[in-house]
Amino acid sequence: MDIKKAEFLMSNTRFEFLPNDNIPEYAFIGRSNVGKSSLINMLTNVKGLAKTSVKPGKTQLINHFLINNEWYLVDLPGYGYARTSKTSRERWQKMIVDYMLKREQLVNVFVLVDSRIPPQNIDVEFINFLGQNGVPLSIVFTKIDKQKQREVAATVNQYHHFLAEIWEELPEMFMTSSVTRYGRDVLLDRIAEINKTLVNRT
Ligand code: GDP
Repeated sequence: MDIKKAEFLMSNTRFEFLPNDNIPEYAFIGRSNVGKSSLINMLTNVKGLAKTSVKPGKTQLINHFLINNEWYLVDLPGYGYARTSKTSRERWQKMIVDYMLKREQLVNVFVLVDSRIPPQNIDVEFINFLGQNGVPLSIVFTKIDKQKQREVAATVNQYHHFLAEIWEELPEMFMTSSVTRYGRDVLLDRIAEINKTLVNRT
């Protein structure tokens, strides 16, 4: 997929205020520092479209970017800040649970995980929460340029191992690097492919 246009539409703090249209949404989420903003900027070819690392304590926002006038890339607030307050964690949880379970336009969630880090409870729990609620998801391994191929493969294998405990069929997985731009075409082509099935359905 060529990205002809990528524009920021709006930021929201509340599920109730999200855009009220029928444009399909692809959400991106992961632990803070996983490389989410870098990946969004790499995918869209717009430097600074997604702002890097919002510091804990700042408002947690759902950001909508309209791509090619055709689909929304939704940048969700990250999880796992070490220093967030309980209130802020609860607010995040309500917002994300609402979004994941009620957002009809949501087509797929891309859960970002750092390819250098073995599966963490918080990631596996989040992936399992989506799976158990029937929310379609893919796993995106980030920063693969930072280590050798076999080391990336080892992390991926660990995910296979953890997820196989409760998943019959494992989610789709993507390898990416925002530095080398590896994985960009494959991921965007996958979105294009899904979009096509949505158009054909109506
Ligand atoms: P976010 O908090 O998930 O939005 O993460 P950022 O996009 O701000 O990235 C966190 C840090 O990881 C920054 O220092 C980035 O430069 C670095 N980073 C992000 N993606 C990559 C990548 O693909 N390769 C490398 N080498 N560094 C990356």
